[in-house]
Amino acid sequence: MDLHVFFLPFLAPGHMIPMVDLARVFAGRGVRSTIVTTAANVPLIQPTLDLANADASLRHPIQILVLSFPCLESGISQGYENLFAFNNSEITPEFATAINMLEAPFKQLLRAHRPDSIVADIFYAWASDVAKEFGIPRLVFHGSNTFFTVVSGALRRLKLHESEEAFDVPGLPHRLRMTWSQLPGFITKPDDFIERLDDGYRTSYGMLVNSFYELESDYIDLVKKGTETKLWHVGPLSLHNQLAKEKAARGNTASISSDECLTWLDSKKPRSVLYVCFGSLGQCTTTQLHEIALGLEASDHPFIWVVRYDGELSEWLPERFEERVTGEGKGLLIRGWAPQLLILNHKAVGGFVTHCGWNSCLEGVSAGVPMVTWPLFAEQFFNEKLVVEVLRVGIAVGATVCSNHKEKRGLVKGEAIKKAVDELMGSDEEAENRRKRAEKLKELANKAVEEGGSSHMDVSSLLDDMVNLKASRGI
Ligand code: UDP
Repeated sequence: MDLHVFFLPFLAPGHMIPMVDLARVFAGRGVRSTIVTTAANVPLIQPTLDLANADASLRHPIQILVLSFPCLESGISQGYENLFAFNNSEITPEFATAINMLEAPFKQLLRAHRPDSIVADIFYAWASDVAKEFGIPRLVFHGSNTFFTVVSGALRRLKLHESEEAFDVPGLPHRLRMTWSQLPGFITKPDDFIERLDDGYRTSYGMLVNSFYELESDYIDLVKKGTETKLWHVGPLSLHNQLAKEKAARGNTASISSDECLTWLDSKKPRSVLYVCFGSLGQCTTTQLHEIALGLEASDHPFIWVVRYDGELSEWLPERFEERVTGEGKGLLIRGWAPQLLILNHKAVGGFVTHCGWNSCLEGVSAGVPMVTWPLFAEQFFNEKLVVEVLRVGIAVGATVCSNHKEKRGLVKGEAIKKAVDELMGSDEEAENRRKRAEKLKELANKAVEEGGSSHMDVSSLLDDMVNLKASRGI
């Protein structure tokens, strides 16, 4: 296949990680794949690409091209080239400016390398116009799922206003009740940066979704019936990391060695461990961290807890927690980056407390692990609905406020955490049925990416389209 594709990931781990996986999928099918990113982001993806490029059967190694990040011009401090570097998950006006300013250097790379198509994250509103200028298709990489596309579309038509009353979202295959406080700012108060995204999406060639048909078929059918937009479901992309070293290298350098992590997990009974992680950007107040510690200790299941807070342990851990809990081998704290895929796919893991970032939900689904859902910001409350009410593989901890600011979210008490965790890890009929549904989804997820599976075939049909388009341009 003689195709050259540029991949332009948004500069946040939750967007970059799956797009790197996608570039690997394309490369595995013989496509020349080039990832375009900024210098400070290269070390985050290089280890994964080195592993991928070690595969001798790859026709073209995956390349990286570097854009210069406009720190000075956008007013961002040197080296802050990824949302991961900031204290909260918000796309600030400065960061939005920087993202928009990448257009000019990106065009220079297009001129120099003349790829046949661009896969650009949904956050690059300008990418469709640029692709048009170069006479090539732009594919939108959507960081979320089709359920969210459908529900957010229905909400827009509702013309909501602020209220405390829960409301039904009409026109969906399932009954869904939401509240205003669960909605992200980009739905309730979209700014210019967000408003522009719709145009980029509408004028694109189509959209790539990290999900799979069997997971949300009702919603995928609904979108396909209702719009002309071409959609390809190509996930779960995380399943393209089968080797332990691929799982461990994904996204960043882990703050714990794989050996230490696996030895700890190996010492635990099957399905006994709870994994607690709030994604790459999810931070909690020290009061909230304290309540989590109380909840985990009280529920008495072994746990791995990923904490993204640099301060002293004494600021948030209950007194003598280390003596009673972590020191006793009942809990493992990872302060920094965890090898999430390695952990989730270990047989000792039986539950996942997640902030409901889409990658984490899908990684939980792919590993067959039921979840306690604790959404924080962005579209995470929608993902919670999908996991808890549609797929029925999760229990909501009871979070109520969607916000990028940890102080505004309201406190979830230790008792509520213990209750949800005990229910999830329990052995009553409901818990067993939830586990069976999770196992079934794992099986479907794995089938989707195998040869002949729905996602595998969507990738094939997309690549056929790209080849035909190139031929029709007479190149
Ligand atoms: N992740 C990880 N280790 C961590 C935190 C996150 O490997 O300590 C990965 C996780 O596996 C997922 C991504 O980072 O692939 C986070 O994406 P998600 O959509 O779940 O949440 P976000 O970080 O975008 O809020």
